[in-house]
Amino acid sequence: MSNKRTPKDCSDCGGCVRPKSITQEYERDGVRVSVSGVQVLECEKCGEVYFEPGGAQALVEAAESLFALARRTNQHKGKLIGAVS
Ligand SMILES: [Zn+2]
Repeated sequence: MSNKRTPKDCSDCGGCVRPKSITQEYERDGVRVSVSGVQVLECEKCGEVYFEPGGAQALVEAAESLFALARRTNQHKGKLIGAVS
């Protein structure tokens, strides 16, 4: 994951970046959560992923909310998925 600012071209290799929807998974204390349908820009050449400004932070907050939900509902072995469509 990257905290770099959203570019028009990849700042690592200069390749073109394209909009893409990804699924990001997090694991903590045996609980897995997944946020899918997240819009990012991905470099065609090297695969570097760029989030919209604030997007990475919002994604972390979404994952935190899912972890909180898992704790509250005792889903220690389960997997929670938050989807954007
Ligand atoms: Zn690149």
